[in-house]
Amino acid sequence: MALSEFGLIQDYFADLDLGCAHVIQGVGDDCALLAAPRPGCELAISTDTLIGGVHFPGQAPANCIAERALAVNLSDLNAMGAEPYAFTLSITLPAVDTDWLADFARGLGKQALAYNIPLVGGDTTRGPLSITIHIIGQLPQGQALLRSGASVGDSIYVSGTLGDAAAALQLIKAGELHNSDAAYLLHRFYAPEIDFVLSTALRGIATSAIDVSDGLLADLRHILNSSRVGAVINVDDVPLSPEILRVGGEQQALAWALGGGDDYRLCFTMAAKYASALRRQGLQLTCIGEIVAGDGLRCQTADGAQYQPERSGYLHF
Ligand code: ADP
Ligand code: MG
Repeated sequence: MALSEFGLIQDYFADLDLGCAHVIQGVGDDCALLAAPRPGCELAISTDTLIGGVHFPGQAPANCIAERALAVNLSDLNAMGAEPYAFTLSITLPAVDTDWLADFARGLGKQALAYNIPLVGGDTTRGPLSITIHIIGQLPQGQALLRSGASVGDSIYVSGTLGDAAAALQLIKAGELHNSDAAYLLHRFYAPEIDFVLSTALRGIATSAIDVSDGLLADLRHILNSSRVGAVINVDDVPLSPEILRVGGEQQALAWALGGGDDYRLCFTMAAKYASALRRQGLQLTCIGEIVAGDGLRCQTADGAQYQPERSGYLHF
């Protein structure tokens, strides 16, 4: 980018290393330098790109875009059972808009602080708005929550409620931001809370896990394919918030919960015997079905009748 690139990085991004002890060299040199992770730990590494008009509404507030960009990356760490270590930010901007940048850096800083993860480097270029975060986490050796371990007889769980982000997108598209439930739903879309307490508790207990980014059914299918098993989902057990039920009604809410993406909740499998101990720790989990032999994903209602979902997730291509 032009002349102002270094000033821009210095002004907005250099302070977000949070003074973390494991950041030996943060923003400003050719590479960041990080202390090696704790002995006996592995690194978990992931990256996600958010494009304006595709992954968030182009006119969305800059602080919201930043919070969401970091949240979706934190969610990948969470889905592996890893804890935050550091991240980099590659940002492409159509122009240098200092108000926008200040808002963006404020949102990013707030989120970084909330999850205690330092920004240690990145890249800054000019072009259509796009944000790529590269995230690093750590976890005890051999304890990662993979997609491939689900086995017949495991119960299937989700954390929190589903479909709220899809409902928020609908409100944004329809311009219904005055709706009394909009504040809650928009918050769920822009700043989904990532529950590292749950994923840490699931280490050694859950047989598989994935974060719900493309839609419950689509993401659960990834677990089924990796684990070579099938599943039965009881759609009447899928947890729905009061807000989404008021905005969409029961049928629409369920369709959002099964097919809508962007929730960043966890979907995981484990033996049912572990559930009560997790709930006693205050963790929110709901059993929505069971792993079965075979390779299909069957949805049924409480009375056992087959349920045909409207659509089964977000397709990128
Ligand atoms: P290089 O020429 O080596 O690519 P840059 O000029 O792109 O270096 O970046 C200079 C320093 O600023 C590097 O330490 C880089 O990691 C950091 N940096 C650049 N853009 C960002 C950003 N958007 N957020 C955080 N750090 C950044
Ligand atoms: Mg560069």
